[in-house]
Amino acid sequence: MIAAVTTDARRLVVTEVPDPVPGPGEVLLRPLVVGVCGSDLHLFDGDAGALSGAERGLPRIQGHEIAAEVLDDPSGRFAAGTRVAVWPLLTCGTCRLCTAGAVNACPSLRVIGVHLDGGLAGALAVPAANVVPVGDVAPAAAALVEPVSVAVHAVARGRVRPGDRAVVFGGGAVGQGVCLVLADAGVSTLLVDPAPARVRAGALWGAAATTTTTHDGLAAEVDAWSGGQGPDLVVDATGVPSVLDTALHLVRAGGTVVAVGLTSAAGPVHTGLLAAKEVAVLGSSCCTGAEFATAAALVGRWADAVGALPVRRIGLADTVSALSGRDADDVVKTLVDVTG
Ligand SMILES: [Zn+2]
Ligand SMILES: [Zn+2]
Repeated sequence: MIAAVTTDARRLVVTEVPDPVPGPGEVLLRPLVVGVCGSDLHLFDGDAGALSGAERGLPRIQGHEIAAEVLDDPSGRFAAGTRVAVWPLLTCGTCRLCTAGAVNACPSLRVIGVHLDGGLAGALAVPAANVVPVGDVAPAAAALVEPVSVAVHAVARGRVRPGDRAVVFGGGAVGQGVCLVLADAGVSTLLVDPAPARVRAGALWGAAATTTTTHDGLAAEVDAWSGGQGPDLVVDATGVPSVLDTALHLVRAGGTVVAVGLTSAAGPVHTGLLAAKEVAVLGSSCCTGAEFATAAALVGRWADAVGALPVRRIGLADTVSALSGRDADDVVKTLVDVTG
């Protein structure tokens, strides 16, 4: 099969490799569309600080945001041609976190496309438990189920109720997904991103308000928007360390801050705000299998909005261009047409 293989830091070749052989309980898939995200860029750069263990895995076929169709399921559970998204987590199943249901935080977590070969290839074998049918959702939308699933978990961490207000930093696919999940939950959201195209997309994805003001003047805007109350929840989907400090300043007393952006950088925080406002600060990583299925249903319900997201579509042969640099500001996601 053809595959895009990351052979070394910042080196990728599109080449023929042996077909995968499905093991017991595995389903053979044909990837159709695969999204590229920030964590893919980190791995490609050789900066795996936020992806422990991944740096030892080269050569690697990357790609964990996978829309695919079933080629063969020996168990007969999935018919050939069934369109699916792939929950990309493999967990140990026996540790304290796994047995408590927090499988996404398993210390032995492995991610398809990060620690194991992923979707940027003509075929992929994954455990049946990781295969989630998406009905007739278009492949480009199905590739967005994974970032939306990260948002589903982040919002679950945020403990919101209908009628709450949330500020979301970062209009990438996860931040957009957070707006979508919050809108679906009846929470009013203000999306903050410096790029006009990204806040326009946020308005489509359910953000009630948007702003491109990220520093001076933001506090006043948030104050006016929340009627002087401050938001109940602030979500950092940027991974920029200074955003955490901004979030602590903005959130209402007794509110919650959820950090979902990946970074290996550090930044100063006014720690006194934690006690003074009794803020809960929670990290959020990936999602559970049930949350992934929730995300697939959400993408189906919001198909028009999902289809309107500004994306860049490239062929497998151009994968290196997607991994070599950040997306332009008018694009929220680069999607690789694996079969194109
Ligand atoms: Zn990702
Ligand atoms: Zn575990």
